[in-house]
Amino acid sequence: MHGRMMFQPLLISSLLEHAAEFHKDTLIVSKNTDGSLYETNWGDVSDNAKRGAKALNELKLIHGDCIATLAWNNHRHLEAWYAISGSGLICHTINPRLFPEQLIFIINDAQDKAIIFDKTFLPLITGIKAHIPLVQHFICLDAPDEKIRQALPEVLFYDDLIAGQTAEYTWPEFDETTASSLCYTSGTTGNPKGALYSHRSTVLHSLAASLPDSLNLSAKDIILPVVPMFHVHAWGTPYAAAMVGASIILPGPGLDGESLVKLIDQYEVTVALGVPTIWQSLLVAAKAMNSSLTSLKRNVIGGSACPPSMLATFRDVYDCETIHAWGMTEASPLGTANQFKAKHKQLSQDQQAKLRLSQGRPPFGVSIRLVSEERGTDLVPHDGETIGNLQIKGHWIVDKYFGQSDSPLTSDGWFDTGDIASIDADGYLHISDRAKDLIKSGGEWISSVELENIAMGHPEIAMAAVIAAQHPKWDERPVLIAVKHPDSQITEQQLMDYYADKIAKWQTPDKVIFVDAIPLSGTGKMLKRKLREEYGHVLM
Ligand code: AMP
Repeated sequence: MHGRMMFQPLLISSLLEHAAEFHKDTLIVSKNTDGSLYETNWGDVSDNAKRGAKALNELKLIHGDCIATLAWNNHRHLEAWYAISGSGLICHTINPRLFPEQLIFIINDAQDKAIIFDKTFLPLITGIKAHIPLVQHFICLDAPDEKIRQALPEVLFYDDLIAGQTAEYTWPEFDETTASSLCYTSGTTGNPKGALYSHRSTVLHSLAASLPDSLNLSAKDIILPVVPMFHVHAWGTPYAAAMVGASIILPGPGLDGESLVKLIDQYEVTVALGVPTIWQSLLVAAKAMNSSLTSLKRNVIGGSACPPSMLATFRDVYDCETIHAWGMTEASPLGTANQFKAKHKQLSQDQQAKLRLSQGRPPFGVSIRLVSEERGTDLVPHDGETIGNLQIKGHWIVDKYFGQSDSPLTSDGWFDTGDIASIDADGYLHISDRAKDLIKSGGEWISSVELENIAMGHPEIAMAAVIAAQHPKWDERPVLIAVKHPDSQITEQQLMDYYADKIAKWQTPDKVIFVDAIPLSGTGKMLKRKLREEYGHVLM
């Protein structure tokens, strides 16, 4: 064979190198944890990431070690991300909304050697510190602070660590299939499971996510990732932004509508990303503040189904095109995004409105299919009507969970998403239900099985089913359907109070409905779908 093309490993550091070389003065804005705004650029982020990588090396953290981050979306977190993955360590982003027991579990499961945290989360760290013996270093993402040192004497400060380094550093080169980051996802039962991403999967995902028919990102964009960096990498935007040289506005802890509207207007944000709950409060704030969100050309809504009224408001009132996307932790997360094809221009207004509600079609790199709910392996036609279990495969889809030897895939290599959907002949996906027994409230998971087990632990409850009821603010909230023992006088409030010391307050059911019997299938399983049909609207 004569001739061939170069081979270069697809490494996360190369995204930052590109941004630093060709977009070094492109603005990066960060809302600090204390609410102040800080302006930097890709050039300085790159220099600090190199300083950070050197500091981590000096702490004797070695290739393949997991380093946890517990932080909001801000510039130090962004720099630390690139420092960690770029230098061959694994960046384990942790959701601070988890229970302390779950935090302890995942930190120990990942064998995190260091935790990099925002000072807001100091109480979380001091509360669990005794239970995470493998963590050798605690690094506060801030300037030195005596109060923090008093609470955590061994603490190191990020600003100190990077101040002691020069930016002379060459990113190491290694195999592109090396693990780069780790993100845990909730299961219905048992402990959370980790999706372990590689440099290759992350770079390929960034390419696909930036495409015009995906999120359509470019160097003309000013991106506001409202979705946290601990929710599947803020949907990959910090990587994709570096790849395309976009400006990025990191909103810190201020995720309320008013703060977001101010950021959008002040920095002329062109595209913002978040779950429906975020958009709900943003729309209320924009109206109250009389903002027409003039700069906002696109918004990406995913994580839960986008309500039709929200799509219409963005389009008709704010002239903002909504990209409805579907994804999951196990898919890095992008699975599909809703953009029209040329032929759809000819559709009537009504037909277009209907198509817009779909979760969209996959970019190159992801395949989707449906299998029969009843007969496991039978394929279901992609006719836009027939419903089946949604399965996926592709370059950035999980193959095995972190630390688990069993494969989560079907015998022919597909990942079952736990979602129920139809797909039309053009590949447009329509999620219609969820087979996995989880409730998604404001982007965070609640296990219905866990709530049922608690209710069943009450001596006066004979049977309990928890369903996801639609909610105007939180998308979904748990509702408990319970059968009392014959002589019981228990009230709704007493049963709700029973959850108080057993689960986080935000996970407690919003409502209890007492019934005489819960419908069961032929095999004795609770017919949740039937319950959802009957009670799924009680909170609307
Ligand atoms: P996570 O792993 O936390 O990102 O959650 C992934 C799950 O969120 C999916 O399997 C779906 O159940 C749900 N989901 C994500 N995006 C959408 C969407 N656009 N519409 C409906 N459900 C969604």
